[in-house]
Amino acid sequence: METIPDMKILVPVKRVVDFNVKVRVKADGSGVDTASVKMSMNPFDEIAVEEAIRLKEAGKADEVIAVSVGPAQAMETIRTALAMGADRGILVRTDEAVEPLGVARVLKALAEKEGPGLVILGKQAIDGDNNQTGQMLAALLGWAQGTFASRVEIGDGEVTVTREIDGGLQTVRLKTPAIVTTDLRLNEPRYASLPNIMKAKKKPVEETTPEALGADISPRLRVVRTSEPAQRQAGIKLGSVPELVGKLKEAGVL
Ligand code: AMP
Repeated sequence: METIPDMKILVPVKRVVDFNVKVRVKADGSGVDTASVKMSMNPFDEIAVEEAIRLKEAGKADEVIAVSVGPAQAMETIRTALAMGADRGILVRTDEAVEPLGVARVLKALAEKEGPGLVILGKQAIDGDNNQTGQMLAALLGWAQGTFASRVEIGDGEVTVTREIDGGLQTVRLKTPAIVTTDLRLNEPRYASLPNIMKAKKKPVEETTPEALGADISPRLRVVRTSEPAQRQAGIKLGSVPELVGKLKEAGVL
């Protein structure tokens, strides 16, 4: 099978609170408690890594690069991507909480340096639920974007993306280089096997910083408050339909 020459895929992967963890808001409301909580790769980013690896396995790409913007521990997230099958990693180190625009600026600098044919991101990070980074990156680079992808097919100088939209699907054809963001139904990510976890330790990971890339990550917003969802009121059992109708009338629903 013919490989599209020099087709690199850049996959941004974020370290977030594991999706099985019940998050707790810090006592001062400044954010969510992440100390001693299990952290994992953002689930939509696992789907992005899986898709990039499948495209490589199908001979449509020749290198998959995982990149994470975050603290030293984000290296674990990169190693997970490498264990799944990515070829190399880039850790852009910062201990600041970086907003989507900051991440997009870092990714723009890396895209200009690496020249990927595709950047595949998650549609959203499950911690901040922003759903912004891919779109901002497309705008900063002036590249086409296919968001909420449930199918990705690479052609010659183009990529066809089926998008999950309200009540159906939409198919768009984009000129490459392009940005794709993943939706849940795109694929089922593989688990890394133990031998591949061992092999991943030897794969190259470059370390850099936002400053070295010339990316401004200064914050544009301040979190004013974080709160738990409102507690649901306990329910009551009613003995009959007339009693239910009476209660609904009392509540002004009927
Ligand atoms: P968001 O706009 O924050 O919901 O994130 C959307 C996607 O952008 C994520 O699924 C990741 O692919 C990427 N992303 C966001 N923040 C980071 C980060 N700090 N490092 C790497 N990728 C990120």
